[in-house]
Amino acid sequence: MRTHYDVIVIGAGVIGCSIAYHLSKRGKSVIILEKGSTAGKASSAAAGMLGAQTELEEDSPLFRLGKQSRTMFPDLAADLKSLTGIDIEYEKNGIYKVARTEEQVVRFQSLINAQNQLGEETHWVAAEQLQKGEPALSTDVLGAMYIPNDGQVSATKLTKALAQAAVTLGAEIREFTEVHRFVKEGVEIKGVETNSGLNRAEHVVVAGGAWSETLLKEAGVNLETYPVKGECFSVKTRKRLINGTIFSDDCYIVPKAGGRLIIGATERPGLFDETVTLDGISRLMEAAKKVVPGVGEAEWEKAWAGIRPQTKDALPYLGEHPELKHLFVATGHYRNGILLAPVTGEVIADLIDGIAIKKDWNSAFQMNRIPVQVQ
Ligand SMILES: Cc1cc2nc3c(=O)[nH]c(=O)nc-3n(C[C@H](O)[C@H](O)[C@H](O)COP(=O)(O)OP(=O)(O)OC[C@H]3O[C@@H](n4cnc5c(N)ncnc54)[C@H](O)[C@@H]3O)c2cc1C
Repeated sequence: MRTHYDVIVIGAGVIGCSIAYHLSKRGKSVIILEKGSTAGKASSAAAGMLGAQTELEEDSPLFRLGKQSRTMFPDLAADLKSLTGIDIEYEKNGIYKVARTEEQVVRFQSLINAQNQLGEETHWVAAEQLQKGEPALSTDVLGAMYIPNDGQVSATKLTKALAQAAVTLGAEIREFTEVHRFVKEGVEIKGVETNSGLNRAEHVVVAGGAWSETLLKEAGVNLETYPVKGECFSVKTRKRLINGTIFSDDCYIVPKAGGRLIIGATERPGLFDETVTLDGISRLMEAAKKVVPGVGEAEWEKAWAGIRPQTKDALPYLGEHPELKHLFVATGHYRNGILLAPVTGEVIADLIDGIAIKKDWNSAFQMNRIPVQVQ
């Protein structure tokens, strides 16, 4: 069995799989080590929204990272289809950020002005017009900020397609293989120890989602991250009830293929527990019925929970450890890991190849922006 690679990627979530895909495209020998199964954690819990302007809102390095990633989806969807046959269900179907209070009307209209000034497409849709385009919306909705360029994918299919494409290009994936510690020689990381032996590599990338911090502690590295539990559920309708995604302050409703709707998501900081609770789901149900009353008539499908990786300053970590050589980290994508997966794969592949990334991304997402301790 081969034990030496150019790059070891830890974690087969959307982030690890995207990194492996980009590196494999560049001819690197890559192995993904995954303690469970591919797309088994947050990446299959996600609703799959590509909410670059919906979720990130104001100009910042993260906003620009999200927008860059969003532009990568059309080509990525085509490439993944031709490499793997998997359709990631990419749709640029727009997101309506709906206002139910006068305060939200004012807030969203000023957000529209700010985003228009940045050259971003978004406009206000008044209640009457909104009812014509989306008749299933409650008449209580006062209007919406419409973002035509935000869209969606199937999060699970995206993750599995990235993994399969990486394998088609030569990568290996070893599931049920937990990384316990790093092989360190002085300040250089040379590989990892797993439950099934030692693997060596020129570079090691930690893409372990909310569990990255636990693993990095083994190397004496303290990251400032924490888990945020999220619950979701899905229902089925005979006809597609809504065309665009409906995003309100209390929930979102994402229309999927075949009349499915994904409704999410709760936020419970500090929890690693993946159980579905009656409280969480009933709160989402009430919130969903307030914006799209017809949801109450839909057929129940299922509910689930996942753990988002969040950081103290709400920015992902994308970069090489400042002191431990050849150790890279890509985590902390919080609510936007599906959106940010393509650009993250490219950024980490560039860094490993020694290609400079955009200056503002380098300083905003580098590991030592918050002092990272090495014991
Ligand atoms: C309910 C919910 C809804 C969401 N909706 C959206 C959305 O609509 N749009 C969007 O962009 N984002 C969304 N997100 C966020 C998105 O899902 C995450 O940001 C993203 O999946 C994080 O990907 P990841 O690869 O970092 O983590 P994960 O998918 O959690 O993958 C990490 C992997 O690393 C493995 N691992 C960890 N430690 C080790 C180890 N020591 N050895 C080996 N393997 C290890 C884990 O087993 C896991 O498989 C949502 C999240 C949730 C929970």
